[in-house]
Amino acid sequence: MKTDILIIGSGCSGLYCALHLPAKMQITMITKSDLESSDSFLAQGGICMLKDEADYADYFEDTMRAGHYENDRTSVEIMIRSSGQVIRDLLSYGVDFQREKDGRLAFTKEGAHSDKRILFHKDITGKEITQKLLEQVKKRPNIRLLEHTVMLDIISRENRCYGAAVRKANGMTGIIRASRTILATGGIGGLYRHSTNFRHLTGDGVAAALRHKVALYNMSYVQIHPTTLWTADQQERSFLISESVRGEGARLYDKQMRRFVNELLPRDELTAAIQAQMKKDDTAFVWEDLRPIPPKELQTHFPNIIAHCAAMGYDVAKECIPVVPAQHYFMGGIRTDGHSRTSMEQLYAVGETACNGVHGKNRLASNSLLESLVFAKRAAQDIASSWKRSGTEVWPDMSADLKRYENYEQLMEENKVLVRQEIEAAAAKDESKNRKEY
Ligand SMILES: Cc1cc2nc3c(=O)[nH]c(=O)nc-3n(C[C@H](O)[C@H](O)[C@H](O)COP(=O)(O)OP(=O)(O)OC[C@H]3O[C@@H](n4cnc5c(N)ncnc54)[C@H](O)[C@@H]3O)c2cc1C
Repeated sequence: MKTDILIIGSGCSGLYCALHLPAKMQITMITKSDLESSDSFLAQGGICMLKDEADYADYFEDTMRAGHYENDRTSVEIMIRSSGQVIRDLLSYGVDFQREKDGRLAFTKEGAHSDKRILFHKDITGKEITQKLLEQVKKRPNIRLLEHTVMLDIISRENRCYGAAVRKANGMTGIIRASRTILATGGIGGLYRHSTNFRHLTGDGVAAALRHKVALYNMSYVQIHPTTLWTADQQERSFLISESVRGEGARLYDKQMRRFVNELLPRDELTAAIQAQMKKDDTAFVWEDLRPIPPKELQTHFPNIIAHCAAMGYDVAKECIPVVPAQHYFMGGIRTDGHSRTSMEQLYAVGETACNGVHGKNRLASNSLLESLVFAKRAAQDIASSWKRSGTEVWPDMSADLKRYENYEQLMEENKVLVRQEIEAAAAKDESKNRKEY
């Protein structure tokens, strides 16, 4: 199969990128599972926006402080400055954000934000945004969507990408030739026993990058979310108790039901405090109390969390719930520049699999949907503006590559090992550097 643009992944970054590519281009989007099974659909809390110029310096500082000042300052500036246009795009697609009584957009707050600057739709913001993006994509005749189609590897010659080897929905292996390939494969939660991510998100884009020596960045920066619902049974996916619950007043208690921490610390600091408390108390969880949130606010803002907790046997209006940290987000990934270009010609990376340094060492809550959209659009714009420059494609013979991909299960296992080893090696390097500096 041949296409102008191959987008691998149908989360918010892949979809938004597709929507900003010129209509004259033939776009093929493939996705490992069904179209609704992406982390973008799971996002609860919301999406940040620069609500007015007066908030610019504080928003910038909050992002930098959360990221331990290791953030790429240019990327942060691009993200914040582009947020207004992204939100206008979303509104034009019919995304329904919460409004004040007078019709203005309503903003909420989450941990480590010094002000309210997060737009939300109940506690299912990601679903609201991604569904609307998907509806738009389905209307475009130049975009073909292939579900249950897995990228096995990218195809490259002399540091230039020519598409990908894929496992089709019928189990057959094939090659999709593309003039530009965009990796939008999401996070790495599937590598961890406890994660809020979909299990099939195993860092396949990063594995492909590793196999082809595409530059990676900040590989040890893995975010653990401080509060997911603890259950005695080992669950498929940890259920997130959104940060905005704490932003609206929820409290954390130790085993004696005493507050032990400032609930609005950045995620990594709060996670460390919870883990230390669990160790001290010798418990598998700490308690979270949603009762300080005014009842009306609780019901209208967090219906999904209330319903899930009820299904698990907890009435959040009457009792505390047990919460525990779990893997949540990958700040590192495939190194990209301000236009989402990777170190390989004709290969882009967007969304959680990419790393332009915007989050530094630790992501500020509700910055990732925004970052995914901002830099996905920039990838599309870069492709559109550079399109004329590419000459007639000379396709390398790829038939020999197919044999390598016959054993699907083995390949996927190898991918996981590759990514895990890279993360562990990067973490070990950080540790020895820190020890030396200390
Ligand atoms: C529970 C939860 C709550 C969150 N809440 C928020 C929030 O409130 N605000 C916020 O800003 N962020 C939040 N996030 C983070 C945010 O949702 C993600 O970072 C963002 O949606 C990532 O988008 P993406 O397009 O990069 O990846 P995803 O949406 O995860 O999409 C990845 C896509 O790649 C596909 N894929 C993967 N591997 C392959 C392969 N080999 N071949 C083909 N396809 C492949 C998948 O099937 C999927 O379609 C949350 C995340 C989780 C898990």
